Amino acid sequence: ALPGFPRRLCLLGSTGSIGKNALRVAEGRPERFTVAALAGATNLALLAEQAARFRPARLCVLTPSGVDALAGMLPAGYAPDIVHGPEGYASLAADADSDVVLSAIVGAAGLMPTLAAARAGKLVALANKESLVLAGDLIRQACRESGAVILPVDSEHNALFQALGGPGLRELPHVATLVLTASGGPFRDKPAAFLQTVTREQALNHPNWSMGPKISVDSATLMNKGLEVIEACRLFGLPPERVEVVVHPQSIVHSLARYHDGSLLAHLGPPDMRVAIAYCLGYPRRTPLDLPAVDLVALGSLTFEAPRHDDFPCLSLARHSLSLGAWGPVALNAANETAVELFLAGRIAFLDIPRLVDFALTTQAGVYADDLDAILEIDRTTRRRVRERAEGGAPRG
Ligand code: NAD
Ligand code: MG
Repeated sequence: ALPGFPRRLCLLGSTGSIGKNALRVAEGRPERFTVAALAGATNLALLAEQAARFRPARLCVLTPSGVDALAGMLPAGYAPDIVHGPEGYASLAADADSDVVLSAIVGAAGLMPTLAAARAGKLVALANKESLVLAGDLIRQACRESGAVILPVDSEHNALFQALGGPGLRELPHVATLVLTASGGPFRDKPAAFLQTVTREQALNHPNWSMGPKISVDSATLMNKGLEVIEACRLFGLPPERVEVVVHPQSIVHSLARYHDGSLLAHLGPPDMRVAIAYCLGYPRRTPLDLPAVDLVALGSLTFEAPRHDDFPCLSLARHSLSLGAWGPVALNAANETAVELFLAGRIAFLDIPRLVDFALTTQAGVYADDLDAILEIDRTTRRRVRERAEGGAPRG
C-alpha cells in the first residue's frame, strides 16, 4: 500500500545532485511533503544549511567526527538526532518516522540503505542504480516480503515506468523490448583517437545533464547505459536481449516500450531530473513543476543513432557481465567504481576504465553471488585486484 499525504521524506544523499533536486521538488509543498531525515557524507556546510531550512528530526553523516562538527553548525534551539556511517544510513532508511526513502547515495555505498528501506516496507524512490546492479534479486525479494514498492528515479526507467502504466506493469507480457535512450555523452561524435587524450574536465562536462562526478564519467564511457541495461533487467524482470539501447543526443525522449504489434510508447520531457523525482515522491499524484515547456517546434527534429560499441566498450562489457552469472555485474560495478575513482584522481587514462573492467571480468574465477556476504566479498576482492593492477603500471588491453 502506498503512503498517504503529506509524505514524510527520508533523503539519503541530500547533498548530491539528485538530493538537491529532491529538496527543490519538496520545498514549499508542506501539504505534500515534509522532510523527516537528511543524510550526506562530508559536505557538512551544505547539509547544515539544508537541515536549518527543513528542520528534519534526524541527520546522518559519514564519520563520527562529522557528527560533532555538524552539530556545531546548526542554529540554536534545533537539536536533531545525528548518526553516522553505514549503520546510520541504514537506520535512517528503516526509521518508522518516514514513509518515502530517496536512495540517492552514489555507488555501492547505496546498497545497504536501499536494502534496509526495502526490508522496512518503504516507498523507495531509487536513484542508486548500483544497488540493483549488485543485488537486484535480494531487493526484489525484500519488497515481496515487506510490501515495499520501488519506483525508479533514473530517467530512462522512470520513463518506462510511466509508459508502462505504473508499478503493476500489467502490460509487460505484451512488450517485445524496452528501448533505453542514451545521450551519447560528451564524446558521442569525437574520433576514436580523441578518446586517448580525454581529461577529467572534458569527461565531467556533460552536454545535457548536470550530475555528480561518478555518473558523469559513466555517461562519457557509456558504462552508465550499461548499468542501466542491467537495472532495467532487474526492475522489469526481462532478459538483456529484450533491452535495446539507442543514442538520442537531444535527451527529450527518455525511453520507449516496443510492443509486439509494432507500437512504440515513449515518454518525452525536459532533461531535468526533477520530473522523475517528483513522479516518484508523489506517485500516483503528479506534482506540478515550474519547468520550461518542451518546445517541439524549436527543437525541430529528434534524432536517433546506433551506439559506437567498438569505441565505447563499457556498454558491451555490461551486457557480457550478465552472461557470467550474478557475480558478473558485481565485479563489473566494483571495477568501474574503482577505475572511475582512479581516473578522477588523475591516476589512469580515460581508456584505462574499460581496460580495467575487462580485466576484472576476464581474470576472475566464476563464483556464486546469491547472498549478501558473497556479493560484498566479490565487491571487495574486485576493488583490491583492480587497484593492484592499476598501480602495477598502466593495464594493457
Ligand atoms: P553526487 O555525487 O552528486 O551525490 C552523491 C551523494 O552521496 C552525496 O550526497 C554524497 O554526500 C553521498 N555520498 C557519497 N559517498 C557516500 C558514502 N560512502 N556514504 C554515504 N553517502 C555518500 O551523485 P548524484 O549525481 O546525485 O547521483 C546519486 C545516485 O543517483 C547515483 O547512484 C547515480 O547513478 C544516480 N543517478 C543520478 C542522476 C543524476 O542526474 N545526477 C541520474 C540518474 C541516476
Ligand atoms: Mg539514466
